[in-house]
Amino acid sequence: MIKYLLNTLILLVILPILSFMNLYYFTNNLIEWFILFIQTILLLTLSLKIGRLYWIGTYTKYFILIIFAIIAGISLNQVIKYSVIDYNIDYLKIIINILIVFVLTIYLYRTFIGSIIETKSINLGFPFKDGIFYTVDAGNSSLTNNHYNNEVQKYAVDFYKLNKYGFRCNGIYPKNLSKYYIYNEPLYSPVDGHIIKVIDGIEDLIPPKRDQISRAGNHIVIKIKNEEDKFLLLGHLKKGSISIKEGDEVKKGKMIARIGNTGRTEEPHLHIHCMQNMKEDYVLKGKGIPITFDGKFLIRNNIIKK
Ligand SMILES: [Zn+2]
Repeated sequence: MIKYLLNTLILLVILPILSFMNLYYFTNNLIEWFILFIQTILLLTLSLKIGRLYWIGTYTKYFILIIFAIIAGISLNQVIKYSVIDYNIDYLKIIINILIVFVLTIYLYRTFIGSIIETKSINLGFPFKDGIFYTVDAGNSSLTNNHYNNEVQKYAVDFYKLNKYGFRCNGIYPKNLSKYYIYNEPLYSPVDGHIIKVIDGIEDLIPPKRDQISRAGNHIVIKIKNEEDKFLLLGHLKKGSISIKEGDEVKKGKMIARIGNTGRTEEPHLHIHCMQNMKEDYVLKGKGIPITFDGKFLIRNNIIKK
């Protein structure tokens, strides 16, 4: 949790402020201004893609972009007005800033690649029906998906729910579960299939407490109909909310449980991933299969309105 907050602070507050100050105070001519302008655009694009926007509210991105537009305009005006004609070009400064542009471009390219799926994916229905939903960890890259380095969870998606102002809970990190908008949200089956595993009875935890034994908490595994050996796991469900049982057939769109805060989780959310050839220790081992929702492959900071 602290790690994520720190990451947010650096990517979405400190780096943009430093970048704006650089553009405002340290541009003596048009060449420097142009390089720093490009650098700031790249930095903001990257920060808004990989930064955990939910901590500061998803609409804050517009505020950051407006501040940028104002500072870029003022600094350009200053440079044009007061540019020192015989200013000795500081080549070292220019080279360092071009290098930063280069590094930012590499990271942006990696993020872009992470929004594309190169192998065949399984298309799912959306698991919620009413509200604004947000992807915390998702995508084909470790830059936007914390699950990425675990093979079976490689393409997993974590969902939060937002209020109309773009916040996921009432407070910063409340202990009261009902303050998280996704808590107790009805969950609908994203596929037609056969229920092969139901785990229920695990207690919902008060954040930041995490279950050290059960990783997925209360969860359901569905064998997807008409897909050979493909299984869907839906995790962190609310204790006592699962309304289907092992052996049941389920239709896409049927309500099957409610979102809780069970298992190894920071706070209430839905975890969902697809795997092939389900094994005994399926929560951690196996082959992860990419998933799309209504045909769309999601990455961090995507917002889906229902
Ligand atoms: Zn997850």
